[in-house]
Amino acid sequence: VFENLKESIAKFFRSEKYEEAVNEFIKDLQKELVKSDVNLNLAFEITKKIKERALTQEPPVGVSRKEWFLSIVYEELVKLLGGDSKPSIKPARKPWIIMLVGLQGSGKTTTAAKLAYFYKLEGYKVGLVAADTFRPAAYDQLRQLGEQIGVPVYGDPSIEDAVEIASRGVKYFVEKGFEVVIIDTAGRHHKEEDLLEEMRLISSSVKPDEIILVIDGSIGQQAYNIAKKFHETTPIGSIIVTKLDGTAKGGGALSAVAATGAPIKFVGLGEKVEDFEVFKPSKLVGRVLGYGDIEGLVERVKRIQLELTEKDVEDIMEGRLNMRLVYKQLVSLRKMGPLRKILQMIPGLGVKIPFEVDPKDLELKLSKWLAVINSMTYDELDNPEIIDKSRLKRIARGAGVDAEYVRELLKQYDLLKKLSKQLKKRKDLLKKLGEGF
Ligand code: GDP
Ligand code: MG
Repeated sequence: VFENLKESIAKFFRSEKYEEAVNEFIKDLQKELVKSDVNLNLAFEITKKIKERALTQEPPVGVSRKEWFLSIVYEELVKLLGGDSKPSIKPARKPWIIMLVGLQGSGKTTTAAKLAYFYKLEGYKVGLVAADTFRPAAYDQLRQLGEQIGVPVYGDPSIEDAVEIASRGVKYFVEKGFEVVIIDTAGRHHKEEDLLEEMRLISSSVKPDEIILVIDGSIGQQAYNIAKKFHETTPIGSIIVTKLDGTAKGGGALSAVAATGAPIKFVGLGEKVEDFEVFKPSKLVGRVLGYGDIEGLVERVKRIQLELTEKDVEDIMEGRLNMRLVYKQLVSLRKMGPLRKILQMIPGLGVKIPFEVDPKDLELKLSKWLAVINSMTYDELDNPEIIDKSRLKRIARGAGVDAEYVRELLKQYDLLKKLSKQLKKRKDLLKKLGEGF
């Protein structure tokens, strides 16, 4: 679906001039966002922000400008969707009254059952209230779903007043000690105003703890306006996006978030009650960007963002060294690393820094060594001295590299350790001579 953007990313990496490449990519991204149903203004706003960061912020040591750019794109989109954190799905108190709103066909009734099933499996006592009195079959549909998941359904087809059903249903379950009560509502009326008015009345009568907007993931460009209208009637606390199992690009979800400021909590991935998941922003962004391993890339950039802290330098100067410091040193080696610079700025030391690797091999060796360090245990990181033959083998296997690389890294570690000790001696000597630091 996002073949175009994949092509844009490839083009971006091929292009030689960074700023031009950014501008080009931004244009493609705007087009693609709009095509995938993100609201026009929103697409414009996000891309503007991305561009600003891309052209003013420096990548961290060891990250290429282009990788940095893609990680900014990803970060901004994820931020829009509420950040990396998992949404809070635990009811803040009991009983917790949830009211679902949304258009007819968006998947409200199905979602009511999915949500009930989800909370039931989380250990809550859950009840469903059938407050869609506009569509005659709605009650039966919910009752059948309730039977299927073993959750009681309150409803009365003889009552036409949805507000009355809703408040009676909530009262019924609360009195019986139920912990989560979910109200299914109508999605259509003779007039749109009537529907919105009914939502307002139900809401003011039952005072729900959470109003959830259920929105069809394939709704397209209308998503923004629909979400806005519901939000203006009954403040939306969270969003559930349905039908993401289909070909929907999910951009409408981005727009719904922008229109309401509410986070997406769950997504619907099919017609069955178990086709339901807690929402993960990175997954949707990956989908919107159509770049498979964007998460991997971002992870890497984050790891590389480590830099030597003052404390690290102090540790090195004091002869204290561990693999974590070596890791940071390796990472910063890709450029003139901070450690090297710092050491060269210290007068009278004139030490030769180890890790003099042929630049040709540097990239390959660095990536293998980083993998080696990643497969070490905490103990091994803090005390590489404990690494014996069998540990060495295990580390090599874990890193998927030849044991030779592990040995070589340990040798480099020894060198650096010696240097570090040497530094301390000289420092002590200098101090004695009154030339302190
Ligand atoms: P309501 O009018 O908002 O209550 O919507 P319904 O719950 O009756 O759902 C409308 C249709 O969408 C039904 O055929 C559902 O089976 C279907 N549906 C709901 N959620 C999903 C979903 O996540 N994926 C798919 N493929 N179909 C869904
Ligand atoms: Mg329904």
